[in-house]
Amino acid sequence: MRTVTTVPERLERAAAVARRFVEARLGEPLPPICIAVATRFQLARCAARTAAAVVGGRAPRLGQFLYGLCMWREARTGLACTLLAPAGVLVIVTRQAVGDPRLTDYLVHEFVHAVQAHRPGRREQMTERLRFDLGMAHLDEARQYGEFLRHEAEEGEAYRIQAEHAGLSPLIPTRRSA
Ligand SMILES: [Zn+2]
Repeated sequence: MRTVTTVPERLERAAAVARRFVEARLGEPLPPICIAVATRFQLARCAARTAAAVVGGRAPRLGQFLYGLCMWREARTGLACTLLAPAGVLVIVTRQAVGDPRLTDYLVHEFVHAVQAHRPGRREQMTERLRFDLGMAHLDEARQYGEFLRHEAEEGEAYRIQAEHAGLSPLIPTRRSA
């Protein structure tokens, strides 16, 4: 796993544990992942720049600003996020998360998103959504609806596996066969 900054040892260890858990649980390998530690402001700026790099072309400055603002607002409650990067995936962890006792749980959640982003066809869909978010392309209502459902389903999967790692499973009883 490559890291872009000098990642604290605690984060390296948590990432190794989370990686093993997610790969064993999903049976799918993680894509190439960069991990960066950032403040909320850095996270927002980095997210906007990374999004612009992924879509290529010239992303409007206003679109980048609004996208960054949206990420900044989300980081009020979220302590980490996963973004498409030009090669693989970028996981940004806030400084607050690095000191949090639940750091490995958060990484499990983000690594599930990393796997999701590399499932067949998903990168293309996410890139199309990014172009919409940056104000570069239109996404009709049916596609927005589909993207909303996919996003929610992916969050569901990520939280379910995070909960398993946190020892809270099973959250949803499985149906018994007669
Ligand atoms: Zn999530």
